[in-house]
Amino acid sequence: MKNWLADFGVSPLLIAGPCSAETYEQLKETALAVTQLGIPLVRAGVWKPRTRPGSFEGIGPEALQWMDRIREEHPHIKFAIEVGHPQHVELALQHQIEVVWIGARSTVNPFNVQEIAEALAGTQQPALVKNPINPDLALWLGALERLEKQGISKIGAIHRGFSSFGESRYRNQPAWQLPIELKRERPDLPIICDPSHIAGNRDIIFDISQKALDLDYDGLMIETHPSPDEAWSDAKQQVS
Ligand code: PEP
Ligand code: MN
Repeated sequence: MKNWLADFGVSPLLIAGPCSAETYEQLKETALAVTQLGIPLVRAGVWKPRTRPGSFEGIGPEALQWMDRIREEHPHIKFAIEVGHPQHVELALQHQIEVVWIGARSTVNPFNVQEIAEALAGTQQPALVKNPINPDLALWLGALERLEKQGISKIGAIHRGFSSFGESRYRNQPAWQLPIELKRERPDLPIICDPSHIAGNRDIIFDISQKALDLDYDGLMIETHPSPDEAWSDAKQQVS
């Protein structure tokens, strides 16, 4: 089952792209630059689960049309997006998005994960599951199992760190023992590291990525932007 990542032709798998799709030009520029580096999968948030209302909530379905337009000219470009509920899944399937992922704020909610899993049932859609924001291995495994129970076979985990109270070097604590335990319990499942959301700051992305690769992770997902400091979300952690 781990082998499905190999379909993308790069091992470890690399996924890069903006936190959020902001404009057609920004998305296209990033997608082309990332692809030119040999990175086979472009990430972009279409709907953004923001902690507080009033910040940029994502472009929505229009960004999926931008992806279609980019692929009309560059058919080899592949996209990965976050889905937060069944309507997002429907749209992702309609637009033939190559990989979807369930975000950390969705993984915490089994009702939500179940709905997403049911919306994916009967498809061959590759789907990744970010760890829940709280350090609960069973909740993370449970979300993966909900997808499996619906017959979704191309699945994997994304380690993006865990919330904690107070000042810290990390935006989200890596708590490496959890993904290590997940690998021990489910050696058949691929695991990818998202150092951007662990770090919260571009300075330590390299070190976190190295650590993940030392631990034999199957890939990395890194937020990138043509002008990182001007990004509409997660500016401090994006790299050019
Ligand atoms: C994201 O990938 O931009 C995102 C919102 O991530 P997370 O679910 O890990 O917070
Ligand atoms: Mn982000």
